[in-house]
Amino acid sequence: MSQHHANPASPAHPAATTHALPSYLQADHLGPWGIYLQQVDRVTPYLGHLARWAETLKRPKRALIVDVPIQLDNGTVAHFEGYRVQHNTSRGPGKGGVRFHQDVTLSEVMALSAWMSIKNAAVNVPYGGAKGGIRVDPKTLSRGELERLTRRYTSEIGIIIGPTKDIPAPDVNTNEQVMAWMMDTYSMNEGATATGVVTGKPIDLGGSLGRREATGRGVYTVGVEAAQHIGLDVSKARVAVQGFGNVGGIAGKLFAQAGARVVAVQDHGGTIYKESGLDVPALLAHVAAHGTVAGFTPAETLANDAFWDVDCDILIPAALEQQITKANAGRIKAKLVIEGANGPTTPEADDILQERNVLVLPDVIANAGGVTVSYFEWVQDFSSFFWSEDEINARLVRIMKEAFAGVWNVAQDHKVSLRTATFIVACKRILHARELRGLYP
Ligand code: GLU
Repeated sequence: MSQHHANPASPAHPAATTHALPSYLQADHLGPWGIYLQQVDRVTPYLGHLARWAETLKRPKRALIVDVPIQLDNGTVAHFEGYRVQHNTSRGPGKGGVRFHQDVTLSEVMALSAWMSIKNAAVNVPYGGAKGGIRVDPKTLSRGELERLTRRYTSEIGIIIGPTKDIPAPDVNTNEQVMAWMMDTYSMNEGATATGVVTGKPIDLGGSLGRREATGRGVYTVGVEAAQHIGLDVSKARVAVQGFGNVGGIAGKLFAQAGARVVAVQDHGGTIYKESGLDVPALLAHVAAHGTVAGFTPAETLANDAFWDVDCDILIPAALEQQITKANAGRIKAKLVIEGANGPTTPEADDILQERNVLVLPDVIANAGGVTVSYFEWVQDFSSFFWSEDEINARLVRIMKEAFAGVWNVAQDHKVSLRTATFIVACKRILHARELRGLYP
């Protein structure tokens, strides 16, 4: 019996070791972080000797929860919960956006920060991965309240961000104005203007030409590459887009300019459909005026669930996580899914799509155009020398195409999905850096 107790590996008495993950970090803990862990597990067999360091990827390096109290316009004080998670900094400073949304949780921000580590390594920009957010519905706030919320949050996370430490950027429901307030707040606390602390800033405050369109342009660029590989003619393709903001709206515009028909668009307000193709410039103007695609004419209105049955060749989920699930993956008609959003497809849905021969171009490569031009912005801020839009777009397209080609080859070599291939490329880069740096102390 004593021998039994002395053996920590005995299945009857499984001993806690330093490798045991706390329950909130485990894959069966539902949600985006659990999905991310499953994605890492699928890759571990391909990591060779670097698998020794794979545990690094399963834990965020640092996670900060902050209370964000603000005075509302009616004089009362409201408290919001905010987060900044630095998943990994082996290859450089943390980098990733900040989202304001009523469903933001620590687990979600952890997953989003991890996907930033993978994405930044996949396109080989010299960053780790980070993400932030506040659980708030910004539509319920006045402009003044939103500014106070942003400033207090920035001040609270100011202890871990900085131009060489962790560089936030826009994400869901944050924009250039929010970045301007973040830059100003950080700079006021530092006593010196630090434009490089955030990216996605207004052009007049050290922002970069081409940044606003960069994520959508990247989605389009790698989407066209993928379409060519499966013999899909983009100029004749029917496209369905979920989310018509900075990512889906721009990607939809670029596909339409290439001759594709955008036949269906869904957002938080509803779902619209037009078989002959929606007038995308008019739809963008409608969204700018009304905040949603709902009410746009001429178009039919569909029930939200019918979006997944739409006859199309390319589907672009460009909204939130966990949209393509085992409940709808079998109904999708598209031959190509381009993930503009972060984490839109669950692992079960990934498997269903793969069995059905639907090519999924994963988020960690498809939407990497945004952070790629964020990198250009950060470099320009440091050097105080600004590039032309043509130069930025040309460099963006080159990086995206090269990253896609590398991932495509790995997928062919190992006979794995593009997601697993992207994770293989990215995890190897991260863990190689980890290994070279070694453990401290
Ligand atoms: N929020 C964007 C993303 O998910 C951009 C992040 C950045 O530019 O740092 O990739």
